[in-house]
Amino acid sequence: TANHVSKYFEQKSFLGGKSVLKAVDEVDITIHRGETLGLVGESGCGKSTLSRTLVRILEPSGGTISYGGADITSLKGNDLAPYHSKMQIIYQDPYSALNPNWTVEAIVAEPLAPLRLSKEAKRERVLSLLADVGLREDAIHRRPGAFSGGQRQRIGIARALSTNPEFIVCDEPISALDVSIQAQVINLLMDLKAKRALSYLFVAHDLAMVRHIADRVAVMYLGKIVEEAPTEVLFNHPLHPYTRSLFSVIPIPDPILAREVKRVPLQGELPDPMHIPSGCRFRTRCPYATTMCEAEAPTMVDVGGAHKVACHLHK
Ligand code: SF4
Ligand code: MG
Repeated sequence: TANHVSKYFEQKSFLGGKSVLKAVDEVDITIHRGETLGLVGESGCGKSTLSRTLVRILEPSGGTISYGGADITSLKGNDLAPYHSKMQIIYQDPYSALNPNWTVEAIVAEPLAPLRLSKEAKRERVLSLLADVGLREDAIHRRPGAFSGGQRQRIGIARALSTNPEFIVCDEPISALDVSIQAQVINLLMDLKAKRALSYLFVAHDLAMVRHIADRVAVMYLGKIVEEAPTEVLFNHPLHPYTRSLFSVIPIPDPILAREVKRVPLQGELPDPMHIPSGCRFRTRCPYATTMCEAEAPTMVDVGGAHKVACHLHK
């Protein structure tokens, strides 16, 4: 659970001044045990920064982060290590996420280092993980270069599973892969989730895929969550103009649904995140923007049925 979590990056300008990039700005988000929460939004909106901050790879600039009721916001070193075991990340790009000079055994076993297992115990663990992700035993001595993209992502998944995590951030795990193998990797992730009772935060671009796998979906825009709802509620009744514009660019196979959903074409460019618009940050692209939207930032309102939205149109 994140409460008002922010992640700011300070950037020095040419003239020696400093400016602040608010990559994540006072976000509240909870991932419940056993669920898959989809996190969607354009690239550069802060999805990856938020997920890295949640698992405490990045230090939050503000707010609190808790895990199973324990406040982990400012834990460090040995105090943080047990939580890093429980929370892992599967990265977008299996090409750069794996050290090309290491063997698969070393890569998969790396997160196990703090456990000080014997060499034999480690190898046994790696072999059973490789079997779990559908790789052959002889993969163990080979290096990432010997594998296809899909196989490399399986290696990344095995590594993420090595510490027996409870919660995994899947940060666009298939977007760098061939379309032909994307479904296999998704199916593997969903199988593993069921077998190991995992919870996922699933960061993704592909809305059709998110609809297929997520229990709930959160929509992020310029560092803020603007809407959040159970998946079918969000896809059938998107309320925020930004969510509608995101949906309007995907083909909706159901003609009835396509009629129901009022489509909003996404206009303009994503504003410079260094200069976030005042009031509602979506107002520069919103066809419904009023002077109120310029003056006041909308707060998240619960419209019922666990559906929350931050827009002055919905109060
Ligand atoms: Fe559009 Fe105003 Fe709603 Fe923002 S608050 S999404 S500008 S209508
Ligand atoms: Mg990203």
